[in-house]
Amino acid sequence: MSEKIICRRCLLEELGQADLIRSLEELKSVMPEEDKTDDVEYARRLDICRKCDELNDGTCGKCGCYVEFRALKKMMYCPHEDRKW
Ligand code: SF4
Repeated sequence: MSEKIICRRCLLEELGQADLIRSLEELKSVMPEEDKTDDVEYARRLDICRKCDELNDGTCGKCGCYVEFRALKKMMYCPHEDRKW
């Protein structure tokens, strides 16, 4: 039996928070395409968050948002003073 390792730098996907993941999938399905970040940019944003010291249990220490939700909206940006994405 393999043990799942949870770390501070995990996103919801890795944390297995089923309700939040379901909400994220619902939001993805209803958000107008013109408002949604495309798949390549979405993955790029989340890769940056994974390496950021502000990521804690899927939330951003700068704004309190779940980063997978924040990154989904095209017009949103990283709230870090260095504006990482
Ligand atoms: S500060 Fe920016 S890069 Fe870091 S977790 Fe928050 S949104 Fe992601």
